[in-house]
This record gives sequence, C-alpha cells and structure tokens, in this order.
Amino acid sequence: MAAARNIHKLYCKLFLLALFEPLTQQKENTMRLGILGLAIAVLGLSACNNTGTGDGSTSASGKDEMLVIFSSRHYDSDYALYDAFEKETGIDVRTIEADGDLLVERLKADGARSPADVIVTVDAGRLWRAEQEDLFAPLKSDTLTEQVPAAMRHPDGFWYGLATRARVLVYAKDRVKEGELAGYETLADPAFKGRVCARSSGNIYNISLLAALIDRWGSDKAQQWATGVANNFARDPLGGDTDQIKAVAAGECDVALVNHYYFARLMRDDKDKGVVKDLAVFWPNAGEGVHVNVSGAGVAKNAPNPELARRFIEFAMTEQPQRFFAELTNEYPAVSSITYDNAALKELGDFKADPISLSKLGENQAEAQQLFDRAGWR
Ligand code: FE
Repeated sequence: MAAARNIHKLYCKLFLLALFEPLTQQKENTMRLGILGLAIAVLGLSACNNTGTGDGSTSASGKDEMLVIFSSRHYDSDYALYDAFEKETGIDVRTIEADGDLLVERLKADGARSPADVIVTVDAGRLWRAEQEDLFAPLKSDTLTEQVPAAMRHPDGFWYGLATRARVLVYAKDRVKEGELAGYETLADPAFKGRVCARSSGNIYNISLLAALIDRWGSDKAQQWATGVANNFARDPLGGDTDQIKAVAAGECDVALVNHYYFARLMRDDKDKGVVKDLAVFWPNAGEGVHVNVSGAGVAKNAPNPELARRFIEFAMTEQPQRFFAELTNEYPAVSSITYDNAALKELGDFKADPISLSKLGENQAEAQQLFDRAGWR
C-alpha cells in the first residue's frame, strides 16, 4: 500500500503544481499554462478525490478504509508514520503534498468536496492561516489533551503539535566567543554589524519568531530588534536555513538564525558534517527562553472520515511515531515523556523553551510582517 500511496502522491503533487503553476508565472505564459492547468485539474480532481483505494486493497476489518492526508511535509519520519499506521490499522493512507500555502489554496478551492481528512503542516503561523480560512474541524480527545502540552495545541482542538522545533543561533566558534551571545537580542547588537545571516522576512519561521517577540517585548522593542538585525546583515537574506549555516561555515557571516533540526541534520550527514565542525548552536535561553514552534495536524473541516482522522492523530502521539520525529527528522517529540535515540540532539543539549501558547502567534502575524517591512528586512 505504501508503494501505491507514493505513486498517487507523486501524481497529486504534479497535479497540484499544474493547478497552481499559473499563479506564479509571468503574464505572457499565464493563459497557456492556465488552460493546461485547468485541463489537468479536471482530470486531477477526479483522481485525487477518488475515494476508492484504487489498488483493490481492503482494511483488516474487510472494508475499504482510506485516510487522505494533505501535508506540507516531506520527511522520512512522516512516511514511517503513515506506514506504521497502515500496518497497525489496515487503513490505506493516501497523501497529497505541497507547500503549506498551496495546500491551503487547494483546500479552499475544493470546499465541501475536499477529500482531505487530515491537514499536516509546519509552524503555528501556518496552522493559524489554515484556521483563519476555516479549514479545521475541532477535535476533542482526552488522550490528546493529556499527551500534548497545552501550549502545543489549539485551545479548541483545531490542531495538535506532533513535534517541536527550536529557533536558535548558530555561530562560528573561532570568530564568536560564547560570552558575546546573550539571546536573540545579540543579533541586533551593533557589535555584530556585518556579521549576521538570516533568511527572508516572508518566511513563516521568522514571522512566528517576531510574533513571539512582539508578545514578549511589545511592539516598540520588537521593531528596534528587527531594524537592528537588518542593519547587521552580512548580506541580503538569501536561501533557506541550511544556506545560512553554510554561509557561517564559509565565513560570510559569524552568526545565523535557524531552526535547530537543520543543524542536527548536517551533524548527522556523512557528506555534509564537515560544514558544522567549526560551528556551534547557542540556545537563547535568556528571559522567556527559546522560541519553540510545532509541526501540527488537525482534522479537515470537510473530512469524509473524521473518525479515521482522529485515530491517525492519536496514533501519531504514540511512542513509535513520536520517536520517528526525533530519530528521522531531528525534531523533538511533542509528547515530552518519549525517549529517543539521536546522538546529535543529545549533543545539542537541553534548553529553556518559551512557554507562550503557540495559538497566540497568529494574532501578531500581520504586525510582525509590518515590522519587518519597516526594518528593511527583505
Ligand atoms: Fe524547515
């Protein structure tokens, strides 16, 4: 069933690209691609909305049961989770993958006809956007309420954190003394002029961090911080978090703002581990502590199988899937009692997580983007 899912997944990915590609093309190409996209969309909607298993499979109960997951993630931990769920329940898992904002557009466009049972995406800021579009159905589950810390789930059960990630500072050990780093504030310190790398301000990781800092410090100090960081850039924002780490390694900058798992991934990669050998992670523990965010899942508003969706999300919090997130993707399990085997995460050490309720981040999202724009952080 996993092989069938992967073929279907690839098909649906191509379908999504075809459907939305016209939105991103130059004007002169729009008409041609629009027609192509529409034609493929008509075919694609029927195939991707197909509620039969298509491969003749049946569940352990003898009935065809299928769970459709819309996900913006494409990690081994998630594929291992889907396979484990299929094995445990006999339910066929089908996935449709695309960038988070594209998934939201697809869900909105499909409306009540949507085949999605579960929505999986990264960052509370993106979960908030989906919530604003009324894409989630509330899920009440005593099991989930007990297992997932309150800050890591929506108060009305629209989504639950599956795993967590921390936004940290990565620095060059030979050019930055640990005593020079105090917290996120350091990135705005004039002593770091021309020494800082970060990705663009349109990225949800940065928007959610600044949303948390607005809550922590108030608007004025958050504005000063964003302006200070932008003034300290060694180069214009370019690329993703891994690119920022590589820029520090290459000597383009001395310190960068990134999610921890990108660093852990490089530590564990035989080919790339040389990149991080002279670098270290600094945990901005001062004050409220390190900004922590989630990968989360919720039941889709128009889920054809809400009960299967609940079973899936509850299953994701059990020991083996929680270990997958830590061991295969270098995230931290949402269920804090789970122990796991990951030497890189152990080496990065413990940290103090900001206790802010992540469902609050969305409220400051628009302001965060404004502050970034005013700061000239592109
Ligand atoms: Fe990421």
